[in-house]
Amino acid sequence: MRFAYDDDNIFARILRGDIPCKTVLETEHSLAFEDISAQAPVHVLVIPKGPYVSYDHFARDASDAEILDFNRAVARLCEQCDLEDGFRAITNARAHGHQEVPHFHMHLLGGRPLGRLLERS
Ligand code: AMP
Repeated sequence: MRFAYDDDNIFARILRGDIPCKTVLETEHSLAFEDISAQAPVHVLVIPKGPYVSYDHFARDASDAEILDFNRAVARLCEQCDLEDGFRAITNARAHGHQEVPHFHMHLLGGRPLGRLLERS
């Protein structure tokens, strides 16, 4: 698979400081911020600072340090955002996954019962 990263995507602009975000956590290699259109009481987006398009791109090409940092950031967020009653981690990829922003991000959702993962169709 070839991954072409678009430097002008909105999360790249957030990382450059061109547009603001509500930061929840920042680490050496990762940034977490509130989703602008929250779908649950907790709706945080976790992104690597590196130029990865999707989860499979990140998991394949990121360094061990970036992958560890990202996962430890998720664990810290689960504590920081009071997600002990549970949460959902979602990452959408490409067209079938309905990915809107082409910079890898994980949605962390919680703060209420979230229902089924997918509606049956
Ligand atoms: P996805 O469909 O998985 O690509 O999700 C993209 C998410 O990014 C959506 O939930 C949007 O609400 C969110 N989003 C888009 N622009 C911004 C922004 N400037 N700040 C925070 N969240 C954003």
